Amino acid sequence: MTDLHGTPVRGTNVGGGGTVDWGNPPLSPSSDTAAHAYVYRHMPEVGGVVHTHSTYATAWAARGEAIPCVLTMMGDEFGGSIPVGPFALIGDDSIGHGIVETLKNSTSPAVLMQNHGPFTIGKDARSAVKAAVMCEEVARTVHIARQARGTAPHRPGPHRLPLRPLPERLRPIGQEPTFPGESMSTAANTSLDGYEVWFLTGSQHLYGEEVLKQVAAQSQEIANQLNSSSAVPVRIVWKPVLTDSDAIRRTALEANSDDSVIGVTAWMHTFSPAKMWIQGLDLLRKPLLHLHTQANRDLPWADIDFDFMNLNQAAHGDREFGYIQSRLGIARKTVVGHVSNPEVARQVGSWQRAAAGWAAIRSLKLTRFGDNMRNVAVTEGDKTEAEPALRRRR
Ligand SMILES: [Zn+2]
Repeated sequence: MTDLHGTPVRGTNVGGGGTVDWGNPPLSPSSDTAAHAYVYRHMPEVGGVVHTHSTYATAWAARGEAIPCVLTMMGDEFGGSIPVGPFALIGDDSIGHGIVETLKNSTSPAVLMQNHGPFTIGKDARSAVKAAVMCEEVARTVHIARQARGTAPHRPGPHRLPLRPLPERLRPIGQEPTFPGESMSTAANTSLDGYEVWFLTGSQHLYGEEVLKQVAAQSQEIANQLNSSSAVPVRIVWKPVLTDSDAIRRTALEANSDDSVIGVTAWMHTFSPAKMWIQGLDLLRKPLLHLHTQANRDLPWADIDFDFMNLNQAAHGDREFGYIQSRLGIARKTVVGHVSNPEVARQVGSWQRAAAGWAAIRSLKLTRFGDNMRNVAVTEGDKTEAEPALRRRR
């Protein structure tokens, strides 16, 4: 055999307690030699002894804890748990005593010597090495399992230990503070109170000022009805009726720049030509809900006339609006129905909560541990890719 430098060395005979002769003066035998020799002498079936300080197995040895048999591969390789041997000083054969005493009544070819590390045995050196490798493998796996939630045999049956109480700072707002004098304001704010959704109404000048006043009154009534529903959590703010592309463009820009605005709801009351929405929809960077509705729940069959038809053309205006949104590829939620229908309020509320989540993501503060290149763009592609993706409207 050779040493690590390739220099030939002679073998040595330590099995009989005889001389140690490495024939290569710079090399001296391991301090564990006497311990290994003791094992060979007292376990004649053993043809190989391996000792390591591999990290995970040694960590179990440091704790003085046997590795429980919680894996099928442990059953296969070790026939049970990997036991802990006694603490023993290095230098003489006392470690060998401990190994033999522990393993002679065990199926395991590995023992964790207390506060030291794993020793393994085999019929030859190869099988002892395999046992050492397997010992480290299961030590690591069971350690990781313990970190997550403990291994199965330690929590038999349906019983599960209760989770420890959530720390105060992580509790939802509204739960009782733990400490006297501690303010609720330290809790994470999940309230939707600070948010608003703008209610935009589309019309045009064709029908005159009187009609536009009626459009304004009716759309305010729609907004009020939604606000009065308990299913609609975010306050709806009515905006003056929009009748031309410039007003629509300015409104979109104002909605974009107002942090409290989490989205806009649009209703085309009269026949609102949709081309005037192109620029505004293109600029809008907030979530959009198209409310396809009308002021009256029922048609007044008894006295319906063309004035009524001209005023109540949501069917026409909302169709135009749906077309232009699709033509521009605008992501939006469409809700159809009269606001007195609870399902309409429910769908509007559902969209509002999603929009609030979107707004929260945009203001989210994220911490990356160990990241000392926080705002550098070119060093980490995925980090750069993630941010625009989170900020996109669609
Ligand atoms: Zn050692």
